[in-house]
Amino acid sequence: ALPVIYAITPTYTRPVQKAELTRLAHAFRQVPRFHWIVVEDSSTRTDLVTRFLARCGVLYTHLHVFTPRRFKRAGMPRATEQRNVALAWLRQHRTVRDAGVVFFADDDNTYSLELFEEMRSTRGVSVWPVGFVGGRAYERPLVAGGKVVGWYTGWRPDRPFATDMAGFAVNLRVILANPRAQFKRRGSQPGMQESDFLKQITKVTELEPKANNCTRVLVWHTRTEKPHLGNEPKHRKDTVLIEV
Ligand code: UDP
Ligand code: MN
Repeated sequence: ALPVIYAITPTYTRPVQKAELTRLAHAFRQVPRFHWIVVEDSSTRTDLVTRFLARCGVLYTHLHVFTPRRFKRAGMPRATEQRNVALAWLRQHRTVRDAGVVFFADDDNTYSLELFEEMRSTRGVSVWPVGFVGGRAYERPLVAGGKVVGWYTGWRPDRPFATDMAGFAVNLRVILANPRAQFKRRGSQPGMQESDFLKQITKVTELEPKANNCTRVLVWHTRTEKPHLGNEPKHRKDTVLIEV
């Protein structure tokens, strides 16, 4: 059987949340052997996400953990706690007998179906280009002789792993074999989450280049514009209450 792809999606309540999750579900429901781990940044499982997932057509696990308010400031890494809760769930509910690949799928990015075909064969840690990050059209691992030898990036090329969260996948066995590996708040500078995590589980020389030796962009770090809601009435004026 194909290894299961576990996509970990942190998500939080805001006007575009359901639209974002809808777009993701439309891609994910076309991927065979796919398990969506949705982690709400919330003190409960919200009704909106609960109802959405029940009808989304994707196999899922619905978790939640609220980010402490002191961590919700500009320039602070986002969704650290949510990704760690998903890793803890995998370590509790899966064993080395379960073949799987773990991927971090933020709710606002854009995913090509081909990306999942590429990551499916990840034996340790695989990497590929990501569009619209690092202040450039794309960032990518530089490959020579089938190995990663450096990074093409416009931002902090000194990072040990100059990749975005959407630019790598990890075999489930690697997650299980490194039970203490997690995303860090303490000592983690903004933008260093990926490097801090990958340092705990792999070496640059061991990375597996995907997407034709990292020459194809199959995922884009898109960001959704906030909708203009300036004309929303202060009190409900419509005759019905509608979920958006
Ligand atoms: N996120 C979250 N809580 C927050 C902010 C963001 O759970 O307070 C999630 C968000 O839904 C996304 C991921 O964390 O899946 C990364 O956030 P965002 O896309 O805002 O980061 P950026 O793309 O700007 O780095
Ligand atoms: Mn984003």
